Amino acid sequence: MKRYYQPEIETASREEILKIQNEKIVKQVRYVYDNVPYYRNLMDKKGVTPDDIKSVDDIKKLPFLTKDDLREAYPYGLLGTDLKNCVRIHSTSGTTGKRVVAFYTQHDIDLWEDCCARAIVAAGGSDEDVCQVCYGYGLFTGGSGLHGGSHKVGCLTLPMSSGNTDRQIQFMMDLGSTIICCTPSYAAYIGESLAEKGYKPEDNKLKAGIFGAEPWTEEMRREIEKSLGIKAYDIYGLTETSGPGVAFECEEQTGMHINEDHFYAEIIDPDTGEVLPEGEKGELVFTSLDKEGFPLLRYRTKDICILSRKPCSCGRTHVKMSKPFGRSDDMMIIRGVNVFPSQIEAVLLNEGYPPNYQIVVDRVNNTDTFDIYVESTPEMFSDKVSDMQAGEDKLKLAMRSMLGIGPKIHLVAPKTIQRSEGKAVRVIDKRKLH
Ligand code: ADP
Ligand code: ZN
Repeated sequence: MKRYYQPEIETASREEILKIQNEKIVKQVRYVYDNVPYYRNLMDKKGVTPDDIKSVDDIKKLPFLTKDDLREAYPYGLLGTDLKNCVRIHSTSGTTGKRVVAFYTQHDIDLWEDCCARAIVAAGGSDEDVCQVCYGYGLFTGGSGLHGGSHKVGCLTLPMSSGNTDRQIQFMMDLGSTIICCTPSYAAYIGESLAEKGYKPEDNKLKAGIFGAEPWTEEMRREIEKSLGIKAYDIYGLTETSGPGVAFECEEQTGMHINEDHFYAEIIDPDTGEVLPEGEKGELVFTSLDKEGFPLLRYRTKDICILSRKPCSCGRTHVKMSKPFGRSDDMMIIRGVNVFPSQIEAVLLNEGYPPNYQIVVDRVNNTDTFDIYVESTPEMFSDKVSDMQAGEDKLKLAMRSMLGIGPKIHLVAPKTIQRSEGKAVRVIDKRKLH
């Protein structure tokens, strides 16, 4: 079985990778300057010309691009080539506001699918596998990306899209799916549904899952691995850079290798824009190195993470990013305290609750209210008010020690919080709606 999809590049030496990056960045910057007036303007304003960019070290001289730029330039302002050279459009999920669109030439699709193929092979995939893709198909990049990667690897591809969980399970069992690709919240839901139908984790043929498109904790990973009887791999990406597969996990499960031959990553201080040294936590910034349709230079993802160049036991040499701690705009400031949904998820799962919860923040009489609705398991669910009260109190205490602020906990009956088939909506911040 192949260990790597493209061994030469995935295990290339640091020097080889740098050489490739340096050659590509010179061309990519020139290409963007010549073809994208919006970015040319930004460079002119900053007084940078393509001649100033001789290697990836010079990337820090370039201006940043933000999601606001993408919205302002919507739809065609950042297009890198004639529309007639493009073959596909995708759009973001719109998690944080107006959607943006990205354009792909056939070359762009190819390199994106290669990235996804690398992820599938890293999860143990080969042409022997049946790969069930239950990310949404359509404008969302999840379905098409993993679908294309699965084809490249030669897996028997099951293009399920998301939803219709009964049918997902029927095909999974009848056709013997060995790899499943979806959001982690949907994976948890499928695991729950399998158990409800009386299946044990060992009854299915699944061996690996490739889950991403939303933040998920290590606790959630263990929960999914247990309920599906698989090894669960993380995959990261965003529409702006192509889609899933920008970075993917290997068997070490200690961060995701970034496909550095296509994407150059930096970590910056989100407040000052200053580039931070390796190992520091900050905002992830990507520069595409060889895109045609939608080449973005120094795109600020708003995702907060850490990069590491520690050697990896899998033999891949590409830099690793930690699981994103959340988006900078995911962070809630509640009564002056910074709170990330991922911290809440970790506490809940550690305390033995299922991964079904919703966080509601509001402001009443100038004070923030902070409520967490948590589903109890059928075993926990009790008619005795005092038992439920004790559970709520215990959870509140655990939350307070993790977050430094005590939410109001509402233990609710099993199956009362809506399940997600795509990206889960965990937070309702009503303060933003007033
Ligand atoms: P939107 O920004 O509207 O959700 P996308 O569907 O392009 O649009 O989603 C990209 C975003 O999804 C990333 O910027 C990141 O915040 C999140 N994301 C993707 N993969 C992961 C992952 N493995 N872990 C955490 N967050 C992820
Ligand atoms: Zn590795």
